[in-house]
Amino acid sequence: MFEQFRVKPDQPVRLSDFDANGKTYFAGSKDEAKQQFKPLNLKLRELQTLLYAQGKHNLLLVLQGMDTSGKDGTIRGVFKGVNPQGVNVANFKVPTPKELSHDYLWRVHQQTPGKGEIKIFNRSHYEDVLVVRVHSLAPEERWSKRYHHIREFERLLADEGTTIIKFFLHISNDKQRDKLISRRDTPRKQWKFNPNDLKDRALWPDFQQAYEDALNKTSTEYAPWYIVPANQKWYRDLMVATILVETLENLQMHYPPAPEGIEEMEVI
Ligand code: ADP
Repeated sequence: MFEQFRVKPDQPVRLSDFDANGKTYFAGSKDEAKQQFKPLNLKLRELQTLLYAQGKHNLLLVLQGMDTSGKDGTIRGVFKGVNPQGVNVANFKVPTPKELSHDYLWRVHQQTPGKGEIKIFNRSHYEDVLVVRVHSLAPEERWSKRYHHIREFERLLADEGTTIIKFFLHISNDKQRDKLISRRDTPRKQWKFNPNDLKDRALWPDFQQAYEDALNKTSTEYAPWYIVPANQKWYRDLMVATILVETLENLQMHYPPAPEGIEEMEVI
């Protein structure tokens, strides 16, 4: 259903070819999308319980997108009602001095999921080829090698049993303006308003280019990127939940076997 949004290795995409409006791709109404979402959310809850109970697989979900693209909202919306045991979020902010004294993957590797766990990266190692590139926080000679490191890092995780899916939340420039204005003018949202976001907004084309390169250079069979039209949250959540459920179903998980002789065990 969402195959057209998966970035295929060796088939470079242009972000401008993707409409950020989910409405373009969904013939139904917002209410219909919400109806479709409900059973998916229930399925996700069930699959997460199974993943946790079996303790055999682990899942890493990477969320990236421009400021206001809805990373927090996706986590809240898609994982609504999912048992918080076994689902964790790692937020990657400006690195601390200690983190900066190591290589850029050091802090990331520590946060990868263990068996039975789902880990959501809210921002990720991709910041090291996005903000670092756009703001020249490292010379090109350094960040340009990182696409290769990242592919190999993700290969290592995948080879050792981690299932990886990566979502780029694609919003339009106009949508970002509306959301920033709403953050500025709504008291309960003002805590989210970061003046630095305005500086990044002024660099919109550079960020789009950096994203496009990251998507094209690091989408692999074992760690695919999906471009998620994210102007409408109902479409965004429907797409993320569908891909997540499909991915978990493909793991063909089973509950662990019952203890030997369970039927005869007397419960007093
Ligand atoms: P968010 O926007 O994720 O809700 P913040 O407003 O605290 O949270 O922003 C986190 C900031 O940290 C972002 O501007 C992001 O670009 C920055 N950041 C994350 N990783 C790095 C990195 N490796 N180097 C520099 N800046 C980073």
